[in-house]
Amino acid sequence: MIASANSRETKVLTNPFDVIVVGSGAAGLYAALCLPTHYRVALITKDSVKTGASDWAQGGIAAAISPEDSPQFHEEDTLKAGAGLCDLSAVKFLVDHAGTAIHSLVDMGVAFDRKGDKLAMTLEAAHSHPRVLHAADTTGRAIVSTLTEKVLERSNIEILAQAIALQLWIDPKKKRCQGLSVLYQRQISWIQAGAVILATGGGGQVYAQTTNPSVSTGDGVALAWRAGAIVRDLEFFQFHPTALTKPEAPHFLISEAVRGEGAHLVDAQGRRFAFDYHPSGELAPRDVVSRAIFDYLQGQTNQTNVYLDLRPIETERIRYRFPNIIRVCQKWGIDVFKEPIPVSPAAHYWMGGVKVDLNNSTSIDGLYAIGETASTGVHGANRLASNSLLECLVFAAQLSELNVISPVHITKTTEVVMKNQQQWHQEMPQILEIRQTLPQLIWQSAGISRNQTVLEEAIAKVSVWQKQLKSLSISQPILNLLPSQSVKLEVDTDQNYLRTCSETINLVDIAYLMLKSALFRTESRGGHYRQDYAQSSQQWEKHTLVCDHRWWKGEIN
Ligand SMILES: Cc1cc2nc3c(=O)[nH]c(=O)nc-3n(C[C@H](O)[C@H](O)[C@H](O)COP(=O)(O)OP(=O)(O)OC[C@H]3O[C@@H](n4cnc5c(N)ncnc54)[C@H](O)[C@@H]3O)c2cc1C
Repeated sequence: MIASANSRETKVLTNPFDVIVVGSGAAGLYAALCLPTHYRVALITKDSVKTGASDWAQGGIAAAISPEDSPQFHEEDTLKAGAGLCDLSAVKFLVDHAGTAIHSLVDMGVAFDRKGDKLAMTLEAAHSHPRVLHAADTTGRAIVSTLTEKVLERSNIEILAQAIALQLWIDPKKKRCQGLSVLYQRQISWIQAGAVILATGGGGQVYAQTTNPSVSTGDGVALAWRAGAIVRDLEFFQFHPTALTKPEAPHFLISEAVRGEGAHLVDAQGRRFAFDYHPSGELAPRDVVSRAIFDYLQGQTNQTNVYLDLRPIETERIRYRFPNIIRVCQKWGIDVFKEPIPVSPAAHYWMGGVKVDLNNSTSIDGLYAIGETASTGVHGANRLASNSLLECLVFAAQLSELNVISPVHITKTTEVVMKNQQQWHQEMPQILEIRQTLPQLIWQSAGISRNQTVLEEAIAKVSVWQKQLKSLSISQPILNLLPSQSVKLEVDTDQNYLRTCSETINLVDIAYLMLKSALFRTESRGGHYRQDYAQSSQQWEKHTLVCDHRWWKGEIN
């Protein structure tokens, strides 16, 4: 019998663990499964196990496994999309291990669509060959569901759901990561472990318009940066050209695969305007199509969207490939068989992240990062569609080799009981105000088109918010809890306040890092476009590296 996620959740924390995995998307789940089975693993996730971007992935997962294709072609396409900033060794590693990752998923029972007895593959923008495997338009859900079932079968993995990682625990002498503090069941405690793996996904919530789920608040990058890890290429954010744009509706993603299957991107008059900007029209790389829409809309009055017309695709094909898109559009009053879908760009994928090597090691011993949180070097300045789920799996598989130095001593902690915190209550309006204002500011300043003046103005505002937030009384147990202390809360409201505060601190920190990185890079490339430096420059064929408040250029490997 398969246990449900609820029945398998750990109720009592017993230190220490061998490994803590933070996040239960494709990266975290697969990592937990790949780790040696004799390790005691804590899988911490801030919502339910399946909540995350992975569950929402629609289009599919790329792998050059058909006889007409080859890893060499996949490598070339990835490098081209990455606009000169991919690390070749990482890209080779990704494309060469794609087949193994797919076979592992198929063996576990992921039901990819088939054509006859073969795996079906579709073409997506900027891929030279059809190589995107899919399970209708809910590929991510198919993968996450299967991985979750497998995790639940494993007795060495303890699941802590509704548990929020707040701060990393670095040994001050050895400079090694030895665990983290977590908010779980009205308590903040330190969990000790030989290794911590950050798999917290992206940070799209920093933008007012995003396809990302609410959990994508950049926590992993913020925690790692505050702990002193090197983070990289944070100015590069991919804007998906086609998110549903209707008042009140979420920015639901209309997958790239729709254009791959033949849908047209049109203006209000039905004209395919994307060809005015690039010879490949709607199948040009994402940043080009997003900017084309952005520029086109800038020139129009009172128009906030363009349209995606599915009618050039055969009706049966639409039904077979895009049942979820049909369903969601229907919910918002759009019949995709009769009318085009209103769309506009939205923040979608963060290419930058915590700098790691091919073994997922960060610059801090004992700390690892995988999935969207990591910067492995495979995406460069712009991710090739459907490479991110693949990256989650290929790199997480490396953790089967992880050698953990298990912690030897457990620090005894003194528990501080916090009764109904009136001061926190009074501080909440200020936090909520920042939480609401920040995404608009970042959309306008570090969105599809950037320039020095708006970036500097935004940095000034965000720096003030950083200071304000960090001085609040509610922030102290999040940021400054001593390893000798733990906190017990008496009421649920305080737990909710702490969660909101911790996410807001993280969003403001990543906003600061993105803005400063965008200001630092005085050129345009991939997902980073500067109006005042509209061309790419050879001098900038470098990574942007950040540690604490230092920015510098790093070589491409
Ligand atoms: C709508 C949409 C469609 C997409 N379609 C595709 C596609 O077709 N193909 C493709 O390759 N890619 C696609 N992507 C991108 C891809 O889905 C993501 O890059 C990938 O799933 C990231 O996986 P992850 O495991 O790194 O993060 P996620 O799946 O986002 O998981 C992050 C996990 O971390 C948890 N978490 C976060 N912070 C904390 C914290 N402080 N404490 C505890 N837990 C925490 C979250 O709750 C969540 O469980 C899509 C993305 C979106 C948003």
